[in-house]
Amino acid sequence: MGRQVKRAFRYRFHPTEAQAAELSRTFGCVRLVYNRMLAERTRAYAGEGRRVSYAESSALLTRWKRTEELAFLGEVSSVPLQQALRHLQGAFVNFWNKRARHPAFKSKKKSRASAEYTRSAFKYRDGRLTLAKMKEPLNVVWSRPLPEGAEPTTVTVSRDAAGRWFVSLLCEDRIPHLDPVESSVGIDAGLTALVTLSTGEKVADPKHERRDRRRLTRAQREHSRKAKGGRNREKARLRLARVHARVTDRRRDFLHKLTTRLVRENQTVVIEDLAVRNMIKNRTLARAVSDAAWRELRSMLEYKADWYGRTLIVVNRWFPSSKPCSTCGHRAAAMPLHVRDWVCGSCGIVHDRDVNAAKNILAAGLAES
Ligand SMILES: [Zn+2]
Repeated sequence: MGRQVKRAFRYRFHPTEAQAAELSRTFGCVRLVYNRMLAERTRAYAGEGRRVSYAESSALLTRWKRTEELAFLGEVSSVPLQQALRHLQGAFVNFWNKRARHPAFKSKKKSRASAEYTRSAFKYRDGRLTLAKMKEPLNVVWSRPLPEGAEPTTVTVSRDAAGRWFVSLLCEDRIPHLDPVESSVGIDAGLTALVTLSTGEKVADPKHERRDRRRLTRAQREHSRKAKGGRNREKARLRLARVHARVTDRRRDFLHKLTTRLVRENQTVVIEDLAVRNMIKNRTLARAVSDAAWRELRSMLEYKADWYGRTLIVVNRWFPSSKPCSTCGHRAAAMPLHVRDWVCGSCGIVHDRDVNAAKNILAAGLAES
């Protein structure tokens, strides 16, 4: 048993000056094509109610390349430009089917610079990856091996706000299902810990989290203090971006380890639909578990459960997980957030608030399945 999946493997790389210039130019062209085509399509849809097809937008791109103004688009690899049109097409289809909002313009500052190469636009052999329009392979830091005999189907190159270069290779991979296990676990997004498990374990924020946050705050303050447009401001922006990148990387790493462990150790994992209990309403809670971290945790659990043949159950968000006693079912009248421990009025057991909630979440999930 196993599962055939498409899996992305991401690495840092260090471009030569010429490669960096070529890629920056390509990123600029990708953004320009995306934004111009978005404007065209928006006009067609809002003005005439017309849904532009991918083929039409592709033909329009060809015409653009023949104009004097946009002739430079012909100088970079055409594949990333076509891929941008494909993504835009997908975004519009989702919008038309009411699955997503109207596609938005990509801003130079806020959106990540990237370009996507499909098979015809790169060569990969024996750990050497060469992109279209380049003579030399990229200097990739192969921090972990690609799967045996992997044939990448898509290669995405990007540069983050901190100026770091990444290449992501999408490969077919076969993931063996894990042997079934007996245990199940409920997870509560908590106040005092990142998550609390129904087993009683509290998984704390990684220990550097607090220090990282302090650094982030300081870098943010420095940045906002510098005059707009000045050299120092740019330096401060870069420093802020670096700190931010480090913090996000660490958190992702931590969440990967946690979710892999949860999925390995349990046949069924139950979480709450976050969208968020009272999190939005409650500032302290929102601070303790940032929305982003929980979303990331959930999506990792989703695909890992799928990979390894486990079950993830998401229980309804209006489920009152903290009030009922997980031992006898007696319902506590009120449960203000400052109450961390409580004694059940019926059976007399002493509960840790979060552990009790995690137990209730687990029971609700198992009852649903
Ligand atoms: Zn009780």
